[in-house]
Formats: sequence, C-alpha cells, structure tokens
Amino acid sequence: MPVESTAKGAGLETPDDLLGPALNTAQSADVLAGITQDVLVNVLDSLPDGLLILDRDDRVVAANRRLAGLFGSAASDIRIGMTMTELVEQLAVHGAQYSELPTNVIVMRDGQRQVIRMPDAATAGLPEHKRAAVRRMALHQAAPCDYEEMAPTGRWLHVSTRLTGEGGRIICYRDITERKVRERRLEHSILHDPTTGLPNTTLFRDRALQALRRCVRDRTHLFSIFLVDLAGRSGTERSLPVGPGDDGLIAAARRLEHMLRPDDTVAHLQGCTFACLLDGVSDDEESREIAERVHASLREPFQVGSGEFALQPAIGIVLGNGKAGDLDELLRGARVALECARYESHDGIAMFDAEMRDRTETRLRIDNDLRLALKNDELELYYQPILDLRRGRLAGFEALARWHHADFGPIPPDQFIPIAEDSDLIIPLGRWALNQAAERIAAWSAIHDDLFVAVNISPRQFADNDLVDDVRTIIEKHGIAPEKMRLEITETFMVENPELASVSLDALRAMGLHISIDDFGAGYTSLGHLHAMPYDALKIDRSFIADMENKRGNRVIVQAITDLAHKIGMSVVAEGVETDAQRVLAEAFGCDLAQGYLLGRPVPADKAEDLVRHVNQPVAAARIGA
Ligand code: C2E
Ligand code: MG
Ligand code: MG
Repeated sequence: MPVESTAKGAGLETPDDLLGPALNTAQSADVLAGITQDVLVNVLDSLPDGLLILDRDDRVVAANRRLAGLFGSAASDIRIGMTMTELVEQLAVHGAQYSELPTNVIVMRDGQRQVIRMPDAATAGLPEHKRAAVRRMALHQAAPCDYEEMAPTGRWLHVSTRLTGEGGRIICYRDITERKVRERRLEHSILHDPTTGLPNTTLFRDRALQALRRCVRDRTHLFSIFLVDLAGRSGTERSLPVGPGDDGLIAAARRLEHMLRPDDTVAHLQGCTFACLLDGVSDDEESREIAERVHASLREPFQVGSGEFALQPAIGIVLGNGKAGDLDELLRGARVALECARYESHDGIAMFDAEMRDRTETRLRIDNDLRLALKNDELELYYQPILDLRRGRLAGFEALARWHHADFGPIPPDQFIPIAEDSDLIIPLGRWALNQAAERIAAWSAIHDDLFVAVNISPRQFADNDLVDDVRTIIEKHGIAPEKMRLEITETFMVENPELASVSLDALRAMGLHISIDDFGAGYTSLGHLHAMPYDALKIDRSFIADMENKRGNRVIVQAITDLAHKIGMSVVAEGVETDAQRVLAEAFGCDLAQGYLLGRPVPADKAEDLVRHVNQPVAAARIGA
C-alpha cells in the first residue's frame, strides 16, 4: 500500500498504518502455502539461530545453514530424511565429538527446573557417537523443554525443543558462548583467589561437601583435608616475604599444587593458610605420608627474585569418611590438628583425634581469655626480692606476671606465657610488663634510690622491631634512670638468633639498661661463648642451686660459672635459693645476688613496697619480708 494514502490527514497513527492491516490466521496460511521452497530456504538460512525440524520418527525434515555452522560441519552433511543417530554419526566422521552429557540433565519445562535422567543402561557399551545420539533423543522426547549443552565445536548452545502438530519436533539452537564465557569469568572470580588463582574458601567448601556426600553413598570412600600454614612453626617470622605481586605466596601455591594430584583441590583460604582436599585416599597412613612429602617440599628454600627464603610450615590433617559428621565439624578438626602441628608436634604435622580437640580447646580458651584479661587489666605483676649477698640487704626485684582466671583460678606464667608467645599477644603483654615495672621503679626511686627491677623479655619481643623504641619511650615517660631497669632474656634466644639479639641488646645497653641472661645452664650456651655475649649479669639456673648442699657436681658447676662470669666482668645471681645451706654456699662461691623462696616469694606491688621502705633494716637470717 502506498505510504501517501495512509499518511494524509491525521498522519501516522500506528505501525499498521504503514504496513497495512495484519494478516489473519486464515490469510497467513494462504500466504505461507504460496511461498516457494526457495523463499522458505532463504528465510530459514537467514535466521541467526540453528534450526532443525524432525518428524515423529526423529528423521530430519528441515535444517538451516546456521545449524551446520554451529556444529562445525558442512551444510551437505545434514540431509533430509536422515535419523538423529545418522546425523550425530555424520558429525563424528568429521571429528566433531559431542561433549559427554551428565547423567542428569537439568531442563526448563513449563518454567520449572526438571531433571531428565539419561538412559544409562541403554547406552552402556555403545560407541560414543551412538550414545550421544540416544541421549539427544531422550532430550527431544522431553519436548517442549529448554536446556544448555556444548556443541562439538566447543561452543555453548541454548537448545529449545518444541512439538509440532504431527508429533515431530522443532529444535532451535542459539549460540550463547559469549554469555557463558562471561558467566564463567564471573564464576571464576567469585570462586578463586585473585592472588594465587587457586580456588577460594567457597569453592573449597563446595568440593569438600561433594567428597563428604560421596562418603555417605559409598562407605568405603575416604578423603583427607590438609590445612597448611606456611608460617606455622616459625616462632619469630609469621609473615612471608611478599614482594611485588605476592611472589612468595604464589611460589608456595605453585609448589603445593605440584605436590598433589591434578584431581586434588588446593585452595588459598587467607594469609599464609592453604587447604588441600585429597578426594580418595586409602588410609590415615597414606595421608600422613603425602603430608610429609608436601611438608618436606615446602621446607626447601624458595628463590624469589634475587632473594631466597625458607618456610617452617605446619600441616593439620583430618580424615573424612562416612562417619565424619558435617563439614564444619570436619574443618574444626582440621584447625585443631593445625594448632597441634604448630605448637606441639615435633615435625610440624598432626592428625586430628578427639583428645587433641580437648587440649586445643583449652589452649584456645586461654589465648582468648588472656587477650581479654590484658584489655581489662586483669593481669598483675608480682615482685620477687633479690638479695645482695655481700651487703645482706635488698638489691632489687624480679617482676613476674600473675593471672587469676575467673574459671581456672591462678594460671602460672609457665602456662600462659608460651601461649602468648605463640600468638602476637606477647608483644602487648611485654609492653604492659615494662610499663608496670617502670611505674614501680619511678615510685620506689623516690623512697630508695638504689634498687632495680628486672623484667623478663621474650624472644618474640626482640623480633618485633619496636622493642628498643618501646623501651626508650617507656623510660622517658616514667622519667626513670635506665640502669634501674634490668632485662632478663633466656640463653636459647641468643643461640637461635645471635645477630638479631646482639643488635637489639647493644642498642639497649647503649641506652644504659642492664641485661641478664636468665636460667643459665638450662639451655645450650657453652661457657666458652660467654665472653662474646653482651650481658651484664648471669642468673644461674635453679636446677644447679637445688641440692647444692648434697651434690658435689652442682657445687663445682656453680663455682666454675661464677668464677668465669666474674673474669669476664659479669655479676652472678643464684636463682631458686630455698635453704640456708644454699644461700651460704652461693655466698661462699662468690655469687653477688640471690633470689629464691628462702629470701622471699613473689608478692604484689604494695607488699614489695613495704620491703622498699625497710631496705636499710638488717635482714634477719637473710630472709626478706618472710
Ligand atoms: P624466670 O624468669 O626464671 O622466673 C623465676 C621463676 O622461678 C618464677 O616462676 C619464680 O616464682 C620461680 N622461683 C623463684 N624462686 C624460687 C624457688 O626458690 N624455688 C622454686 N621452685 N621456684 C622459684 P614464675 O613466676 O612461675 O615464672 C615462670 C617463668 O615465666 C619465668 O621464669 C619467666 O620465664 C616467665 N615469666 C614470668 N613473668 C613473665 C613476663 O612478664 N614476661 C615474660 N616474657 N616471661 C615471664
Ligand atoms: Mg626471669
Ligand atoms: Mg629464671
């Protein structure tokens, strides 16, 4: 219809004005009947989607050019009258293999998700292309429905099957590869850690859940979870050397992957913690052997850039079987095992058992409560008097931390200090002790100007770069003379980190502080090395003082240590003096100072202050404040 005839007057009102009146159904049938085969072929070939029309016997009635393109075959491969099996076979001739369909295919039918189970038994033993054909036909039977599959070309297709009036099917194939790629990318970024490219916690949990379900179906199936902490067993260095692009972490991730089977899952959970899922192990022994190999490989030095670094990893193992409970319980077990691997096991590997859980729960509870205790000021420093043996009077105190737990009662420092050392808690705890002691030094200096307070310093505090600055700030803040503060450190630290130790100790001594080596003789320092160490005093370990009156060997050692220490300009403290005989002997051997229950137990600050006020009173039987 000419445009002018409808466009006059009121102008264009509806699209129909342009196109003319719509055809009704009867007219449309007439028009379609008049369309020649050529036109029809042209119409079909111009469609952007692949189209396949099958009759009730699944024989091809019509197909368009796009269909052949989508399946990577020539249009001539698809012939009218061929069956679906022949069609799939024809594609296979050209090397185009259909991807294997899952046993259960999810389809959309009437807007609902439905599962179509593939005819397994019927296809067993068939060649691949025949199996593919049978499976496609099973899907065609489900018409009308929609589903997605990968074409032999590797492109993703959305397949819509519809019934024709004659019991045949029209199948429309739409290329959705772009969307799939976008979805895959998004899915990958949601399920993977961007730094290492490894699966993240979400994906790891999903795979572990599948493994757990498999165990429930198959009671003989076993799997293992490893929690790997790369910085697990290193006492002083808890973070990896991470350069640009987290090279250290990535190198460790690749090594972990390399150590396990391609089917195992290696996931990056957070920081230095990885998780591995070994879906299919024969027993706990095999799991341990694999863990040992992984552990040994991670201990090999890493070359990153021009530098090299080594790890002290810890691995916690939990075994999953049909009785394993839920995933969270299993993962809690793995965490408990990791805790034990970190702090208790000799080789950095531990496998979960129930008894382990009880122990670790107590440790975690103490760690947690200690954190709160520190925040809420529930810790207290006690002060144990130290006697000047020559003058027979108080020389100073050793400050010792005390914690009264609301449920567990008093917890000795031997228990909570190691836990604080294993976490970063020792840093604030150590700072707190230094502050408290400095406050006492300031207060007691006003009463008596000749006393010191010794504070215990843990090796971890030396690893913290701020120690020297912290001490300086604290001394300035309280306005105390530095020589009134003594720092006690154990000899093991000096042996394990000689460079780190001497740099910090030199700086602290330069500031005027006194450094004592604590528990001397209990560790490994040889007497021959003493002269090279920057100490002012040496505290002879209690084990040598004990029983000195009965054991000649102990007396010889105490005498020898004292003589040598004096020769190199160090003073000597006898620790753990419990009897008069021990005090007399310590004095006879020339020990300068003595500390022990005989002379006074550790007491709260106010009680210690009473001693400070009476410093000049003669000490009866050398017992202070008894
Ligand atoms: P240490 O530094 O060697 O302290 C001496 C320990 O021996 C103290 O135990 C003290 O109470 C005990 N002791 C003193 N005289 C005698 C005695 O005659 N006989 C016996 N059997 N024991 C005696 P305590 O207070 O339980 O402290 C244990 C360890 O905990 C300390 O050993 C020290 O290494 C650590 N510690 C205590 N407080 C702190 C602190 O604030 N920071 C750090 N890093 N460590 C601390
Ligand atoms: Mg000490
Ligand atoms: Mg000691």
